[in-house]
Amino acid sequence: MFNRYTLPMRSFLRIGLLLLLCPGAGVGAATLDLPATAFSPPTGAGWYELLVDDSAALSFAEVRARSGEFVALSRRDANFGFTKAQVWAHFRLRHAPDLARPAFLLLPRALLDDVELYVVSGGRIWERARSGDARPFAARDLAYRVVAFELAARPGQTVDYYLRLRSPNSALDVTLDLVDQSDFHRLMMRDNLLLGGYFGVMVGLVVTALMLAMLLRQAVFAYFALYVGAFTLMAAAVSGYGMMLLWPNAPALQQVLPTVLVTLTMYAGLAFLRRFIDLSPWPAFARLFGAALGLATLGTLVHVAADTQLGMVIVIATALGVCPLVFAACLLRALRGDRFARYFVFGWLAYTAGCGIAAAEMYGVVAAGFLGTYGLYIGSLAKFVTLTLAMADRLRVAQREKEAEVVRTNAELAALNHNLESIVSERTSELEARNRELGELAIRDGLTGLHNHSAAIELLEQMLHQAHRYDFPVTVLMLDIDHFKRVNDTYGHQVGDALLEMVAQNLGEALRDSDIVGRYGGEEFLIAMPHADALAARDFGERLLERMRAIQVPGAPHDRLSASIGISVCHGGEQRMSAADLIGRADEALYRSKREGRDRLTLATLSLIAADGTPRQVNLPTTPA
Ligand code: GH3
Ligand code: MG
Ligand code: MG
Repeated sequence: MFNRYTLPMRSFLRIGLLLLLCPGAGVGAATLDLPATAFSPPTGAGWYELLVDDSAALSFAEVRARSGEFVALSRRDANFGFTKAQVWAHFRLRHAPDLARPAFLLLPRALLDDVELYVVSGGRIWERARSGDARPFAARDLAYRVVAFELAARPGQTVDYYLRLRSPNSALDVTLDLVDQSDFHRLMMRDNLLLGGYFGVMVGLVVTALMLAMLLRQAVFAYFALYVGAFTLMAAAVSGYGMMLLWPNAPALQQVLPTVLVTLTMYAGLAFLRRFIDLSPWPAFARLFGAALGLATLGTLVHVAADTQLGMVIVIATALGVCPLVFAACLLRALRGDRFARYFVFGWLAYTAGCGIAAAEMYGVVAAGFLGTYGLYIGSLAKFVTLTLAMADRLRVAQREKEAEVVRTNAELAALNHNLESIVSERTSELEARNRELGELAIRDGLTGLHNHSAAIELLEQMLHQAHRYDFPVTVLMLDIDHFKRVNDTYGHQVGDALLEMVAQNLGEALRDSDIVGRYGGEEFLIAMPHADALAARDFGERLLERMRAIQVPGAPHDRLSASIGISVCHGGEQRMSAADLIGRADEALYRSKREGRDRLTLATLSLIAADGTPRQVNLPTTPA
């Protein structure tokens, strides 16, 4: 019926309406018997009555004079929301004659600012106690998180109790609970135990999130720590434990903390949400959240600096508006298959359910009970534990993705490596082939393909080395084409080249693999044969001369070639000769062939070993054609 978050209508008018609408409301409250034994708390309408003082200026004496104006109310109607008015409550207890134990009066809203209790009996004011969070905690009658008074036993007396309540910095909820002594202690113990456990878990979550933020260097954990931390402090402020244990001497701080902490929780919660849930497809959310934070900040400033009630209304209305927005955003993400958003949806449902039950109890929609008292705490605990699970799940998913990434990268590296290896081996064999080609080029004559000058000499040196070592003869033939200049002059150099190639081909065909044949100079060829003595060489030379004579000049079939040969022999073994010696001697013999008419061969001077052991020089004749 009354909106907690709107400024109240004129309260007298409201009470008038109440009388019309609420059958439980009536003028004057019944006197309640306070038995000597344990009793159950009075429920329903009628055991206490209220008087609203909009001027907030009536004195206790003036109020007592107006006792006929009090109206009996039920719990449902006792929440006046944000008001600057002052409300008086009155009830009357008939203490049993043998009453020995005190009763306890509880006002379950911890944020009530200023409460005064007057105890009147036999026309005398016996006691005046004060409580409320606008005073230092030490001023309280009972050291408890909510406003509570001990009602001392006055056996046989009828006692009037008057409460003056003002709460400009929080909703004025005049809910009264009269409880038996044993119940009060039981309630207090249960309360301390449950809320102690709650705050223990919440602090644990904050510490865990902070450690994860430091270890993993991820901002999302820091925002989560801030989110849970701000909410926990807000819960401490709202539950009264903050006032009781954390800032007992700072009642002024207690007046602004709930609003400031609601705003801080919004900031941290939305920052956390934005880092956890991808809202980029719906930029409107970001704009709405930004506007809400701006509004909450404005409300907080108004609360601290100007009008506490207006500021509070702005902040609470904003927070209440943001909750369904966050829920909608998470639901949309969850419907799109975001697995983390599902945790948020569940968490927010649990939280909303808890807060809803607490609110329903506050407005008397449901009977006061365990869930009503602890709904906010159970709901928020469920939400934050669920969000912690969401983060654990995200870490797990990230870990899996990282592992898969490592496997993928390794496979790629292996493939790359394989590729690289085959490229390298391909390049290596190409290089080897090229090297071989270059090596060949270095030792081959470009025109004829025979060994070139230096390679032929090198090979001859090796052959002579072997001949010395293994004692076998080596014969060298120097072959020079006759009158080759004339061939060039007559038929041109291209024909000359072709003839040189034909000569080389003939030499190749006539020789064995173990023989060496090279182009010594222009039209001069060097042939070296292992295991061939002078006579074998001479026969071979003759056959070569035959082959030369058979070569026809291209385009002039009647013109034939001829060549001259000089032969020298090394016997091997003890007779050591250099390639230069052997070639020199063959050259001498060759020039003899030339001098004596060409187209013939000459054996160089032989050094023979005579029977008596002395070497003897023998000149062998040339072989004319
Ligand atoms: P001789 O019978 O005294 O050996 O007479 P010749 O003309 O063969 O000897 P000479 O040393 O006077 O001339 C050699 C000629 O060989 C000169 C040169 O033009 C020719 N010649 C040398 N190398 C090549 C070559 O690679 N290609 C061609 N076409 N001719 C060459
Ligand atoms: Mg010649
Ligand atoms: Mg020559």
